[in-house]
Parts: sequence; C-alpha cells; structure tokens
Amino acid sequence: MLQVYAMGCGYLEFDRALFFPDSEKGTRWTVPVPSYLITHPQGNVLFDTGVHCQAIHDPEGRLGYLAKIFVNRSQDGDEVVSQLTRLGVRPDDIKYVINSHFHFDHAGGNEFFPRSTFLVQKNEMEGARNPEVAQKNGFDPKDFDHPLHYQLVDGEHDVFGDGKLILIPTHGHTPGHQSLRVRVSKGMELVLTGDACYTKENMERNILPRVAWDEGEMYRSLAALRDLRDKKGAALFYGHDPGQWQEIRRAPQPLV
Ligand SMILES: [Zn+2]
Repeated sequence: MLQVYAMGCGYLEFDRALFFPDSEKGTRWTVPVPSYLITHPQGNVLFDTGVHCQAIHDPEGRLGYLAKIFVNRSQDGDEVVSQLTRLGVRPDDIKYVINSHFHFDHAGGNEFFPRSTFLVQKNEMEGARNPEVAQKNGFDPKDFDHPLHYQLVDGEHDVFGDGKLILIPTHGHTPGHQSLRVRVSKGMELVLTGDACYTKENMERNILPRVAWDEGEMYRSLAALRDLRDKKGAALFYGHDPGQWQEIRRAPQPLV
C-alpha cells in the first residue's frame, strides 16, 4: 500500500525577511528541513535528501559562505540516512531519489544513494553544469556531482506509469525545480511542493522569497500549485513551513 512519511532532517535558522522580502530585516526564525519517503508497491521513493551530515558539526567546512546565512540547527540523527534507518529502510532500498532541486538542503545527502536512480529535471542539471548559473543559484558540486545514476526528465513525468506519483515542473525558484503529486488513494491527493512554495503564508499572500532564479516562472508555478489545491482538492505540503510542520503527522506515523 502506498504510504507517505514526512521525515524531519533538521532545522535551519535565518532572517525571516529571506522568505518575506516585505518584512523588516532582523527577525530570526527557524524552519524544518523535510524529506519524504513514499512506499510504492513497485519500490521506495525518496523526495529530497536534506543537508549533508558534515554540516551538523562543521557547517562552514561543508556549506561555506551559506553557513553564515543559514545557521544549521540540526543534531546527530537528523540526517536523511538516520531518518530512513528509523523507518527500517536502508539507502539501497530506495529505488528512486527525487531532487526537487539542487540547493544544499535538498540534495546534500545525494552521495549516500549510489544504487538509486535520481529523477532530476533536465534544466536543473543543465544549470548545475553551467558554472555561472550554478554559482548564481548557490549550487555546490559537493552535493550533486557524484557518480550517481541521474535520469533527466523534461517537464511532467509519471514515475511508475500508474498515475500515482507524478513529477510536475514548478520552475522558477531554480532553473528546473519540480514538485511531486501523490495520489495516496482514491480522492486523496497531496503535493510535495518543495521550495516552489516555502510556506502557506507565501501562498496566501502570493509573495515570492528572496531566493528566486526567475520570478515570472516562480509566480506561474505558485499559481499552478494554488490551482491544484483549490480546483483539484490536493493537500499541499510546503517546503519549509514551521507552522504546518507542527500540525502534520510526521514519521514514524504516515502523513495521511
Ligand atoms: Zn531552495
């Protein structure tokens, strides 16, 4: 039976104005870094791999200048491999890893899944392989540039061909950001938005964060996600929403 598990892969603390550019600078806040395990009858799927474990004890060594902007408030055991272990799942048990995008808090643990197939949007990989684009997006080759099996997808992609897990392009935050629609059961659909929408407040106020590669694209993606919620009845799970994180059922309980 298909289940979805929300795993907490630590926390990051930074200035709230990064999420809401119209608010005053100087207010610190702390947000969760989620990854999701989806158990599908044809194989396990991991959505995002969190921050690399080195960043827990050596944040500057791993994250460089970003460590000053995003203070890592994670502890031992928060990293994705430990989170999976708690659910009785080993990295080799993961058939597909989906990277919503290549930021350090979504692709940091990629190297620990050498036997999985990674599903990444073609234009995200093209951006990552272009030094200028990669630098502007804050991509770090340490996160993604490993001998891994990357399968590039272009736009919408049905992971198992049965309509249950569908990748949707939600570009804009980065060149090839993607979100995941999950049909958990008949009449129950959810969407893991990733950073196409950080929080419910970004959605409600239609406000983009400071981190946006292409604002026009990101507004279109936000509108598409809103339509899935309002017209298709999908439940949205936002990228880094501390309020929603407190309310939802987290692993080891299934999300829905
Ligand atoms: Zn991001």
